[in-house]
Amino acid sequence: MSKNDIWVIGDKIIPYNLALISKARAMADICGGSVTALSLYEDNPQDCIRAGADGVYLLRGLQEVSDDSAIAEALAGIISKDKPGTVLFQATIRGRAIAPAIAAILGTGLTADCIDLDMDQAGCLLQKRPALGDSIIAEIICEKHRPQMATVRPGILPEPVWRENSTGQIDKIPVRILPKTVRTGFLKSRNDYALSQAGIILAGGAGIGSREGFDYLHHIASCIGGCVGASRAAVDAGYAPYHWQIGQTGVAVRPRLYIAVGISGSVQHLVGMNTSDYIIAVNHDRNAPIFSYADYGIVGDWKETMDQFLLSWKENNHEL
Ligand SMILES: Cc1cc2nc3c(=O)[nH]c(=O)nc-3n(C[C@H](O)[C@H](O)[C@H](O)COP(=O)(O)OP(=O)(O)OC[C@H]3O[C@@H](n4cnc5c(N)ncnc54)[C@H](O)[C@@H]3O)c2cc1C
Repeated sequence: MSKNDIWVIGDKIIPYNLALISKARAMADICGGSVTALSLYEDNPQDCIRAGADGVYLLRGLQEVSDDSAIAEALAGIISKDKPGTVLFQATIRGRAIAPAIAAILGTGLTADCIDLDMDQAGCLLQKRPALGDSIIAEIICEKHRPQMATVRPGILPEPVWRENSTGQIDKIPVRILPKTVRTGFLKSRNDYALSQAGIILAGGAGIGSREGFDYLHHIASCIGGCVGASRAAVDAGYAPYHWQIGQTGVAVRPRLYIAVGISGSVQHLVGMNTSDYIIAVNHDRNAPIFSYADYGIVGDWKETMDQFLLSWKENNHEL
């Protein structure tokens, strides 16, 4: 391995992982390194290669392991053997747990939750993330230690640049670990879907006014096959849990359809959703900034608008 080689360790959210591989490809081309994709869960090696990887390690034996510290120890062992210069993860729940543990074991630094990455010709990773209360975008480098490690917010990078007909080596790597904790079962989460993967998002803001209002949004979202999201003001008010928050300090999303209900359209919210294919805004204030970004706007009370929406959905004989 060369010190300019980049590893991308993949989590479950495949499309965003492929976007990260594509980003790694662009960076490896700048510094003359290679890109290796390590797949923890899914076997999609050809897509990884099409997205820009020179090779893929299919890690065998981790699928059923829920002990993040044991996985981190195993991955740290593989990394210290091959010594890539850069190791990247998505900032998913698992990535946020595993990546810092690996960095601690390897005695290196980690920049968490990056919103963009770049590389200089010497192979120094430029890690960009909000800092100082999110008032600036800091560019962080790790000069003295290797590997350079970063987690990247899922959904924040552009779509992968596909390299059709590209080839690469695929290796199956058996990984033996000794989990210290054992998975006995799952508690079903209310949001039993990944917000960052959703095709339709019905997002509520402070204008929803109550938890019950969000229960209603959740009902409508499940009727139309979507997920519920929230603004920070709604989360701070206790109407919705934090993991529904969309925006600068929440999840970044890029659905086909984003319906913003009772959301004013602050810049911190927009940064997490303004690349959605279509945006519909519902707000009773016709001057709300969200209307400047929406493809369609409805000026009116959110509850009355959503009642009408649900009614016409039922009348059109859609499945409920
Ligand atoms: C460092 C930092 C990070 C931040 N990160 C995030 C982030 O990740 N995500 C985020 O969302 N925000 C974030 N914020 C907060 C952000 O600045 C805004 O305060 C927040 O997005 C406002 O949420 P909102 O639009 O729901 O509330 P408001 O701005 O209060 O807007 C509520 C809207 O609801 C409308 N409304 C009220 N009643 C009704 C009704 N009955 N029918 C229809 N419309 C109605 C109102 O006209 C208004 O436009 C951050 C702020 C800072 C400083």
